[in-house]
Amino acid sequence: MADPRPVDLRSDTVTRPTAAMRTAMAEAEVGDDVYGEDPNVNALEAEVAALFGHEAALFAPTGTMANQIALQVLVPPAGELLCDADAHVVTYEMAAAAAYGGISTRTWPAVGAEIDPDLVAAMVRPDGYMAVATRAIAVEQTHNRGGGGVIPLGTLRQLRQVADDSGLGLHCDGARIWHAHVADGVPLASYGELFDTLSVCLSKGLGAPAGSLVVGSAEKIERARLIRKRMGGGMRQAGILAAAGRHALGAHLDRLAEDHVRAARLAEALAPFGVLAGPVRTNLVPLDLTKFPLDAPALAAAARAEGVLVSVLGPRTARLVTHLDLDDAGVERAIDVLVGIFRR
Ligand SMILES: *Cc1c(COP(=O)(O)O)cnc(C)c1O
Repeated sequence: MADPRPVDLRSDTVTRPTAAMRTAMAEAEVGDDVYGEDPNVNALEAEVAALFGHEAALFAPTGTMANQIALQVLVPPAGELLCDADAHVVTYEMAAAAAYGGISTRTWPAVGAEIDPDLVAAMVRPDGYMAVATRAIAVEQTHNRGGGGVIPLGTLRQLRQVADDSGLGLHCDGARIWHAHVADGVPLASYGELFDTLSVCLSKGLGAPAGSLVVGSAEKIERARLIRKRMGGGMRQAGILAAAGRHALGAHLDRLAEDHVRAARLAEALAPFGVLAGPVRTNLVPLDLTKFPLDAPALAAAARAEGVLVSVLGPRTARLVTHLDLDDAGVERAIDVLVGIFRR
């Protein structure tokens, strides 16, 4: 008998809270977080700050808001941010840096998760009357449009040097930094020490229904708290969500390795068809359909008709994502359907 529920490979944001997570939420002690009185929010902020070896952290409703708060902390209005052309902060955040922060952005060409620190260094413009002054650099770990690629620690250290040489801030969009930590075995604190600010998501691989954090020094997070309130992100009994996040950090961090194994299994099965956009390092499987008769919307429609949901990223690019709500049976079903389509 056919399983009526689709296998949803569109994103790791589609997960629903587990029974244990719902229990943690239902039993959460709460208070008004704008008064600083929500015990679960306070505990989550302290725990995440400690994980990254920083002084403080700030709970935010979304990763987009967490990124934008961090960018406003690092870059004053009319200052410049450097990042790659595929970065989430300049692709999916609806120009918030410009609209809310008055921040000018300039990008280097995106090559997956690869970064050339010398190229970035050459882009930096100094203070003065001649040109827009660069104030900060942002990188993404793991890289979303870069197919879940992981930036090596050595490259990040070189970027830290570039930032230090010019007195710039360095931000990490770490929505999926958990996956980099699990894939490369790099301690979260080793990432933490390289960045002035990080944003991390609880609602991606970790499987919480909502919530992200900005991580940084006590001074930066104090400024971040004010910006969060200005952006409309001051929530009240947010401990219901923070409790979900705390549960997720305890129960769902190490299991990301399973998502990586399942993504590798998908990649292995699809590799013979020449549709992989690049190596699969974490939980994202990017597809490049340029040499394939179907374009991405047609592939997605054909898969959907057989109960498998995939993301369309561009006319010829698509993406499969493994996550908490996907088991081995779901992966095998997806492989059957996709291989069937690729063979036609
Ligand atoms: C998902 C994501 C975000 C934040 O997304 P929200 O939907 O606003 O929570 C930020 N950066 C990257 C790289 C992401 O993948």
